[in-house]
Amino acid sequence: MGSDPIPAAFLGHGDPMNALADNRWTQAWRDFGASVPTPRAIVVVSAHWYVGSTLLTAMAAPRTIHDFYGFPPALYEVRYPAPGSPEIAAEIAEAAKPRWIGLDADGWGIDHGTWSVLVHAFPRADIPVIQLSVNGSEGFDDHFDLGVRLDPLRSQGILVLGSGNVVHNLGLLDARAGQPTFDWAVRFDQACTASMAEEPERTGALVDHPDYGRAAPTPDHFLPLAPIAGIAAASGTAAHVLVDGYVGRSLSMTAFRVG
Ligand code: ZN
Repeated sequence: MGSDPIPAAFLGHGDPMNALADNRWTQAWRDFGASVPTPRAIVVVSAHWYVGSTLLTAMAAPRTIHDFYGFPPALYEVRYPAPGSPEIAAEIAEAAKPRWIGLDADGWGIDHGTWSVLVHAFPRADIPVIQLSVNGSEGFDDHFDLGVRLDPLRSQGILVLGSGNVVHNLGLLDARAGQPTFDWAVRFDQACTASMAEEPERTGALVDHPDYGRAAPTPDHFLPLAPIAGIAAASGTAAHVLVDGYVGRSLSMTAFRVG
């Protein structure tokens, strides 16, 4: 029993202030949400839940987490009151077996990696949202494999999103206007775009790319791409660019859609 697979996507969330913005990226997220069949639940792999194990939020009413400092008050007032679903979280954990996924009943919630894009993509906040952690003790291939296991759930009404950034080097961020994007950032982003479109099963090789160390000085924002690459590979579907662009010389906003 199943239906046509629901498209999956990787969204480059960038600055938390995008939650309150109206720009070409937020418009692309909006268009994506409006273009897909209404899912039964949304699973989001968020760069901002970077922990030492693979976990799913499994609470009925996840809280909105404001996991940043020094932003304007309006950003702290954003709430994304979507329900959770302990039942669907258990269903996802089951689908991932024999990989183990822990169910988090009362710890985390919906962090800004998730809500900064969902306020645009699914503004009514009426679809159950379940977060999936990024496991800092595992690498790209493990997260890719998880995506392969989650792929069949797309035919069961589950929308899978990754939220991170292909290029994310905050240490070299330069917000002055008119500065060109670093060459290495463009090179890495283009290599990633080519891989996702042409050979998503080889996207993990990007961790050996000469520019990887600068593009992803920490892996948290890059790893949410891996399950989406896994879904593209498992389903034999090319991932194409939903929207692209750069911010502050060292951050790319590229988003991919599968299906
Ligand atoms: Zn982020």
